[in-house]
Amino acid sequence: MLIDTHAHIHQHTKEEWNDIVQRALKKNVCGIFTSGTSIEDSRLAIEMASIYKNIFAGIGVHPTELTQSLNTVDLVKISELAGSSQVVVMSEIGIDHQKQSPSREWQVESFFNQINIAKKHSLPIIFHIREEGDDYDARSARSTAISILKESSAGEVGGAAHYFQGRWTHAKELLDLGFHISLAKTLTRITELEETALNTPSSRILLETDAYPQLFKKNRSKWTEPKDIPIVAGKLAELRGTTINEVEAFTTENALEMISKRSPNVQSIINKSIAPANA
Ligand SMILES: [Zn+2]
Repeated sequence: MLIDTHAHIHQHTKEEWNDIVQRALKKNVCGIFTSGTSIEDSRLAIEMASIYKNIFAGIGVHPTELTQSLNTVDLVKISELAGSSQVVVMSEIGIDHQKQSPSREWQVESFFNQINIAKKHSLPIIFHIREEGDDYDARSARSTAISILKESSAGEVGGAAHYFQGRWTHAKELLDLGFHISLAKTLTRITELEETALNTPSSRILLETDAYPQLFKKNRSKWTEPKDIPIVAGKLAELRGTTINEVEAFTTENALEMISKRSPNVQSIINKSIAPANA
């Protein structure tokens, strides 16, 4: 059994939800964390998670979705959502410094405040980091995200650097802070990632697809979906000289362990969900 720890499948049309879940189950992807990117979108993630037993929700406001710094009303709403039983992670939150990104000040404040909500609710954080130029990798002293993670003691709740694409030095720093490294299909094409895939302890690796409606791809069958997790697992097994079964075992254990404080019964929920879904 594999787990996709970061996707946005609730953003597909509701008509597609069931097919996406069934295609994943056929590939043995039995647990999916679907993450909201705004308050409204987080509500939708919770709605999907309340329909499918093997879908779990992430909530949060993505840095590129900010139209101002999150205010008190927003934070109260996020905190309320964080209390829902379908929610297993605070996600997607983070830092995104690109030319067109929202103000740095809004991002820093909002990341910090959402981490604090996560801490209050024992929710691990699954975060996005995209920083300017090289400071993503090497010049981490200047990394805004790392300093917020340190200052807020976010390592207490744990979580993962999602869609990790940086270098090993950066991965090492995140591991030292207590986070997992979450790998996606980019592992099959970015050779610089191989060092991280090899050096990260097996107890600290997660798998994800970051699947969302890829409208820019005309051929619907080419859209990434949770069913593609075995591709990432297979590549990781090949790189580490092990079997896909072994990768499946440790990544699933890591995912379940990460959310165990928050949702101790996820394993049994997933086990129960497999039988009826396949019937
Ligand atoms: Zn995402």
